[in-house]
Amino acid sequence: MAYVIGLDVGGTKIEGVLARAAYHGSIPKVVRKVRLQTHPSSREKTIGNIVDAVAWLYSYGKENVNGFRLGGIGIGTSGFLRNGRMEMVPNIPALKGVQLRNVLQEQLREKGINSSLHVENDSICFVLAESMWGAARGFKSAIGVIVGTGIGGGLVLDGRVYRGRNGGAGHIGHVTIDPAGPRCGCGQFGHFESWCSGKHIVMRYIAAGGKMRGTGPAAIFAAAEAGRDAVAGRVMVETYEKFGIAIAGLINTFNPEVIVLGGGVSNLPPAFYKRIAAAAGKYAYPALFRGVKIIRNRLGDDAGVLGAASLALNG
Ligand SMILES: [Zn+2]
Repeated sequence: MAYVIGLDVGGTKIEGVLARAAYHGSIPKVVRKVRLQTHPSSREKTIGNIVDAVAWLYSYGKENVNGFRLGGIGIGTSGFLRNGRMEMVPNIPALKGVQLRNVLQEQLREKGINSSLHVENDSICFVLAESMWGAARGFKSAIGVIVGTGIGGGLVLDGRVYRGRNGGAGHIGHVTIDPAGPRCGCGQFGHFESWCSGKHIVMRYIAAGGKMRGTGPAAIFAAAEAGRDAVAGRVMVETYEKFGIAIAGLINTFNPEVIVLGGGVSNLPPAFYKRIAAAAGKYAYPALFRGVKIIRNRLGDDAGVLGAASLALNG
């Protein structure tokens, strides 16, 4: 059975795995992991580290696995891509405009690595991995919503990834929910991200006069649930409302079977899911809302690298 390499290239780190592809339907078995730094403002260093991570995993396989054969390499990265070219990469500006697939392929060939190479948006990797092996397995239409520092999204519709005209489909975080809202990282106001990302939940709490310091969404949620912090309570009620509006829009537009949440905020307890589902139910078309699952991912931190590895298996 072939091996695959999956890399998740984020704004601060590059995580990679060497995994053994299992028979269809099973999660690839991770045999080795590697982690290197991203240098958001240096193209050479970031690309160099991506190449090093792949090369390191490749040599590990060659040295430690009998009859090692690499079936392919998949790389997930933020921003969006068209035919392997980085069109927009907010958290790694140095990669903007780079034909990443070609550049990497060339540098890897110089190191004697000729396997097929796939580059894909990391939110698409997330929803692919969850569709193949995780919470969305067995469903044909799944939407991944990754709620961390920012909010990203990926669409699998009728069993296929939907990319749109420029490869930018699924940018759910930058849908306007209420323009009278906080300023978003993208510069506009009242986006889903600037209402509901982990970072913005905290920012809204502080701006509203919240007293807890050095806090995160989990503490604000817990304080709200316990009824011991009125500001936290108001901020969370507003969060459910805006979250519900965003989710209802997805449900009415795409009629998915399942919406899978990822990122830090997805680790909040089941009560959080109950509250956002209740809010979504107020705004979605009832016939489309009925039966939709709004659930936490199952692959956790491995979704990114496994999703990237899945590109090599599908491609
Ligand atoms: Zn935005």
